[in-house]
Order: sequence, then C-alpha cells, then structure tokens
Amino acid sequence: MAHLIADKTICPLCGKTISSDDVVVGFPAFLKPSHRLGLFSDGIFHQACVDLSSEGAEAQALYTQWLAVWQSRPSNLESLEDIDEWGKNAFAHYWQEVARADS
Ligand SMILES: [Zn+2]
Repeated sequence: MAHLIADKTICPLCGKTISSDDVVVGFPAFLKPSHRLGLFSDGIFHQACVDLSSEGAEAQALYTQWLAVWQSRPSNLESLEDIDEWGKNAFAHYWQEVARADS
C-alpha cells in the first residue's frame, strides 16, 4: 500500500499535494500497472478527486470486488503457497472483470 506523507505526497489526479486536513482514499496494488486504470493501483488520492473522476468510479468498483474476494479467504491459509493457490481460483472471476474493463 502506498504511504501518505502529508504535504509531500502528490495526488495523481489533480497534481496538488495532499495535506493532513484532506480527506484521502488509498488503494493497494489491486491492478497491474499497465492496466487502463493502473494509476489507481497502489496510489493515494484526494477523495474528492476520485469522486469527480469517471475512471475513479470504475476503479472503486473494481477495488470493491477485489476486497470482497480477498476478505473471503479462509482463515486457515498460513503459507504464501497456500494463499497463492487459493488466490488463483478465487480471483479468476475478478481478473476477467479487470480484463473486460481494460478493453
Ligand atoms: Zn487531488
């Protein structure tokens, strides 16, 4: 997850710095950087900038799906291998949606 440094981090949508008073939204790496909406992956933004952007709405919709899949993972997965194996199946539908949003 990207880290916010107040008055240093730049919002990629408006190009202005993010201050500690601003309402922000951050995304983990939920898309490949090469995706049409890859700007939103692993980034921090002004909430208002995301809300005003049509691509922001698309990114938030995909992120909501990503989060739902991730939160559905069984609690007994311990090793990275187990999580990887689970993820291949669990995220299959999600990655189809991501590919559709990229075309
Ligand atoms: Zn902004």
